[in-house]
Amino acid sequence: MTVVEEIKDRVDIAELIGESLQLKKSGKNFTGFCPFHANTRTPAFVVFPDTGTWRCFGACNEGGDVYKYVMKKEGWDFPQALQNLAERAGVELRPRTPEQEEQEEAQVGLRGLLESAVTFYRNNLLHSDQVLGYLQGRGFSSEALESFGVGYAPDSWDALQAFLLEKGHKHEQLVEAGLIAKRENGGFYDRFRNRIMFPIRDARGRMAGFGARISDPKDQPKFINSPQTVLFDKGRLLFGLDGARKAIRAADQAVVVEGYFDVIALHQAGHGNAVSPMGTALTSHQLRSLKRYSRNIVLALDADAAGNQATLRGLNVAREALDREPDPVFDARGLVRHEGRLDAEIRIVGLPEGKDPDEVALEDPEAWTDLLRKASPVVEYVMDLLIGPSDSQDAKQKAAIARQVLPLIEDVADPVEREAYRQGLARRLKVDERAMMGWRPKRTTRTQASAPDLQQVDSMATEGFCLGLLLRDPELTYWIDRQLHALELEGLSSQDFIGTDSQVIFKAVQSSLGQVDEEPTERWKALLDGTALDQAIAFASKAEEVDFARPKVADAVSADFFRLRMRRVEGLLEQLSFQQQAVQELETVEQEMISLAKKAQNLVTQKRRLDVALAGRK
Ligand SMILES: [Zn+2]
Repeated sequence: MTVVEEIKDRVDIAELIGESLQLKKSGKNFTGFCPFHANTRTPAFVVFPDTGTWRCFGACNEGGDVYKYVMKKEGWDFPQALQNLAERAGVELRPRTPEQEEQEEAQVGLRGLLESAVTFYRNNLLHSDQVLGYLQGRGFSSEALESFGVGYAPDSWDALQAFLLEKGHKHEQLVEAGLIAKRENGGFYDRFRNRIMFPIRDARGRMAGFGARISDPKDQPKFINSPQTVLFDKGRLLFGLDGARKAIRAADQAVVVEGYFDVIALHQAGHGNAVSPMGTALTSHQLRSLKRYSRNIVLALDADAAGNQATLRGLNVAREALDREPDPVFDARGLVRHEGRLDAEIRIVGLPEGKDPDEVALEDPEAWTDLLRKASPVVEYVMDLLIGPSDSQDAKQKAAIARQVLPLIEDVADPVEREAYRQGLARRLKVDERAMMGWRPKRTTRTQASAPDLQQVDSMATEGFCLGLLLRDPELTYWIDRQLHALELEGLSSQDFIGTDSQVIFKAVQSSLGQVDEEPTERWKALLDGTALDQAIAFASKAEEVDFARPKVADAVSADFFRLRMRRVEGLLEQLSFQQQAVQELETVEQEMISLAKKAQNLVTQKRRLDVALAGRK
């Protein structure tokens, strides 16, 4: 959550507006007389606490979030509004200062430091015959090991630090990079000792940290990672992604395996689209970064992870893996939810008993391709696993299976797919589908409360993504406008964005286009400052990898902008219907009803056009 969102989250919008305006509760919402235009007959101003927004249905015809309200009310600009609301919410704003630039510089320094460590471990491996022999014995080629920068940390408490200190680095930097740790009684020690080292890089190939695997089978734990650092966040990184991007695009498929060795072996065998998480269940961040290159994601699970026990555990809990051992990358329920939200297609395949992907791939590259073809959707995979080939389940067993699988099916986003799975389950359990309805888990209030949250998060992600594209290439605005005009809709406006911060950023993009003195991409940087600038830079860097040259990318991008507009139109319609009801209850003049109905009609028309356009882009 950004600081802007955090503040918004903490400020009770009804309470804040209620301090300067008399509000009346009306259902879930509040109504009052608009403070921004002469409004005395019918209350035209509505506050919607659910969405944290307000709107005037009268002369202003305006609305927004809590920032927009105080900006309008107090005549503040966005930074002022942010400052004031931050104080109210008790959130500390970090001022954008030379500090931040310093931070960025420090990060560059840390990455350089990590690169030196890569070199150190790498050289050390080349001089460790035993470890090298072990790796070659497993079938890894020198080229593959080199391209992944695989190294070896010597069995020493201070070899790495001696090397790096010699080069002029400081202890604190080494600690910050996660390479050494402080002893309780003073002094420092190398974090990685007698381990095979795997450099972990971000999608752009910049060093972030290390994964380390034992080289002596007696050592424990089998795997350790860099600790969480400013660069290393294991829930966001995927091993091998920097080298896999091209291949994922080319194959239009990303393959997730469990181990570093699996990734290297697969790349070596010509399957360059494989990546691996670092011993955690796949996070939505990781899936999202894969989805940038392909929406088809296959999880290839080791037999033990694929086996019953792990699956059943995975069904119930989204596990945050300990660093102790590599945890299965399988959390069926989480995957199904991510799939719907990210519009990705996730499939699973279990590996033959007793084999790792690296064995399968190095023995016979063709066998790997065949195996992937057998991957099935998450729900089907779980059903197969639980029901198995036998059909001798008794009634209790059947009930137990249904209780496990039904919650998973409930999480499937597509209603048609959901129904098909329900029927499939009933058929396979040989029970009447209607009987199964009784087993359907009651949605708890908690999931009800969290569902819109997820939607909200996702729609804010679309907002950030669209802004990122515009920031990267402001002239894209013209192209989007043409698409909207073709649907007889008005061009993009700041109203298409919900967050006031987003609106501020969008306006900067717009003004960057209305001048010729500077490159638009330089111009918006000059127009923004503080939090808004940070945000804009973050959005822009996320959009960096979108490649318009790819087929369907343009369609997908325009679809995202249409979704933004759809969200706005649907939001307005919903608010309008509330106001229509409220006005009806007041039995007020007909004219007002007509005016609201006209507005609604207009919105419905817009919605229909967008529906058609989006259907064409599926
Ligand atoms: Zn008004």
